[in-house]
Amino acid sequence: MIADDGDRISSGSTYRFSGSAIRVRVGRMARETAFRDDWILVHEMTHLALPNVPQRSEWPPEGNGTYVEPIARAQAGQLDPSVVWRWSLEGMPKGQPLPGDLGLDNTHTWGRMYWGGATFWLLADIEILEETHGLLGAQEALRAINRKSGGNGVIWSVDQMLAAGDEATGTHVMSRLYAKMKTAPAPADMAALFRDLDVGERDGRIVFDDAAPLAAIRRRITEPREQPVAQGQFGHRRSVAASLVHSSHRKKDLALP
Ligand SMILES: [Zn+2]
Repeated sequence: MIADDGDRISSGSTYRFSGSAIRVRVGRMARETAFRDDWILVHEMTHLALPNVPQRSEWPPEGNGTYVEPIARAQAGQLDPSVVWRWSLEGMPKGQPLPGDLGLDNTHTWGRMYWGGATFWLLADIEILEETHGLLGAQEALRAINRKSGGNGVIWSVDQMLAAGDEATGTHVMSRLYAKMKTAPAPADMAALFRDLDVGERDGRIVFDDAAPLAAIRRRITEPREQPVAQGQFGHRRSVAASLVHSSHRKKDLALP
């Protein structure tokens, strides 16, 4: 932790040495609210959960941090879901490809890396939830990747990481999306997507319509999930999810709600 001027948490970075480390700058005058409202540490902690990937592919972890951070805070009761969706609604269009785009692996702009990457994870989440009828989503895939890799301490290929996620959800959603988005612009119709999720803005406020086709998925994304439990501690109802989450390496799960 580096003491800084001011009253807020101003930046953070995550490193892999022989273990993991987060460096964060915190203002000497920071009060409790600065920590309660902070998103930087939550973003950095999501990096602890995933393996390192080759540098040209920084967008999957950066997009993941961007996507997971507000959802994690909403699931923990620190953020209203309307704030999560406001950020998606305003941020994700910044991740759309511009003319000359060569796909996420080859276009290293801020918008593509953070918001293009976040769009990948949103699309993956929705498709996994659709294919598994709401049983599993990106969260379960991420937990599986975390357990299999051990997190930030190892270097994996993106293919390896996404295959572990697909294996956990019994789908091919993430490898299919990656193949589509890594070397081609693959624009997404964000206006149609938010219409289906029915996230809209009226008079400056985020409004939802629970009759929209993807409304159940939208609610599912930000609602609190059960924390992983040790094998043998769960009952019959949880058995499918629990078979995906049991682990003796739970310490890393703190980064993924
Ligand atoms: Zn980051």
